[in-house]
Amino acid sequence: MTQKNTFYITTTLPYVNAQPHIGFALEIVTADLLARYHQSLGEAVVFNTGTDEHGQKIYAQALESGKDPQHYVDEYAATFQDLKSLLNLSYTHFTRTTNTDHTKAAQEFWQRCEANGDIYKKNYQTLYCVGCELEKQLSELVDGKCPLHPTKELETREEENYFFRFSQYQDALLKLYSQQPDFVIPGEKQHEIASFVKGGLQDFSISRLKEKMPWGVPVPGDEDHVMYVWFDALVNYISALGWPHDITTFEQFWPGVQICGKDNLRQQSAMWQAMLLSANLPPSRHILVNGFISVDGQKMSKSLGNVISPTQMVERYGVDATRYLLMRLGPIGGDMDVSWEKFDTLYTAELANGVGNVCSRVAKLCEAYTDFWSEEELLASSQSKHAKEMQSTTLSRYDITSYMSEVWQSVTALDGFLSETKPWRLEATEKKKVLLDAVKHIVAITQLLGPIMPETARHATNHFSAKHITALKPLFPRLT
Ligand SMILES: [Zn+2]
Repeated sequence: MTQKNTFYITTTLPYVNAQPHIGFALEIVTADLLARYHQSLGEAVVFNTGTDEHGQKIYAQALESGKDPQHYVDEYAATFQDLKSLLNLSYTHFTRTTNTDHTKAAQEFWQRCEANGDIYKKNYQTLYCVGCELEKQLSELVDGKCPLHPTKELETREEENYFFRFSQYQDALLKLYSQQPDFVIPGEKQHEIASFVKGGLQDFSISRLKEKMPWGVPVPGDEDHVMYVWFDALVNYISALGWPHDITTFEQFWPGVQICGKDNLRQQSAMWQAMLLSANLPPSRHILVNGFISVDGQKMSKSLGNVISPTQMVERYGVDATRYLLMRLGPIGGDMDVSWEKFDTLYTAELANGVGNVCSRVAKLCEAYTDFWSEEELLASSQSKHAKEMQSTTLSRYDITSYMSEVWQSVTALDGFLSETKPWRLEATEKKKVLLDAVKHIVAITQLLGPIMPETARHATNHFSAKHITALKPLFPRLT
């Protein structure tokens, strides 16, 4: 038996102190689209997501709500697991950083870095943003505050911590970026991280005093410290693959593709890569970076009352249409602006009046024929070469924006074909020939829609590959 090609993709693990938001929905649907595409190529796919469950912020919130931290994170993990059915996700792994396998992996990882001389203890004073769970350099602050959390006071911390020798990895990271110009996608984000690294790296703290903050993975060999939440959480990208106890699986699937929001650029494409190098493990395959989502030009926030949640979107548009609308925003690129009005307009134009309408038109025109497909035609239409090529020139390069516009162009092209050929005016023989072309075109469209809208694609494929094609109920009901 020949070895199957493998594909590994992972989202970041959302920090479990809030309900799943649209930014994470965008991230996980993007990963799902890519996982489904690679599955369709016959590859063995691991698709990992999960929850990041340690750290100061969770510990403080658990105490505040009078809950045991484990109980608190269990509840939140469940709300993130609900996304699987809400958004019809195909993930294979859900890693919780409080799992025993994960915490053991984090400890083994620590020991590898330590054995390599990259972990040391020192006394230090730092400014810390509890919102980000990150230390902040003075140069990063705006008006003395974290630009992402302007309402939170920065904490000054002084304690003895373990540090990771990030500064040792400047050359190795710059070499990684120059050898692999598409390591971070989009390219502008690779430039951004490369210039951050060029500017010089400072060692970062990777532990907390247990007496102040016990909610973390114990540091091996020092019971007074727990790991800094980032150090433990980043290891999930490999603990999900069974590292270190299942090296066979790990070696089959690593290096993997990681997707994240742009606020995670530094952690994913520099800190984590340095940690991997320190543990003598290969760097990731790619880091895909999403922009931020705003609502009518404003930051989405509870206090502004402009939050659009994935649950609300599914209630209004249905699962598949929600996935389509999210992917049409243009993930793995720049910032995105949304509003209900924009979503409604797009839904009506491209789904109700677009995909849905063209499918209904063709089905209606075919209905008069009792025997539409011959066996050979059925076989020939089941896979579209054109769709395959289109996927390989866009999706294999993680270019979802181009892919989505190709999909939309193919819908408008079919509309154009119908207007031009006017099959309803043709004689029976010629009419059937034109309709057959139209149906083949629909089969190609459904193949393209497969990774984006799996249920709609499956339904339409079945409908249009029946020997007798009948009228089709609207795929996308009009909005009310
Ligand atoms: Zn912050």
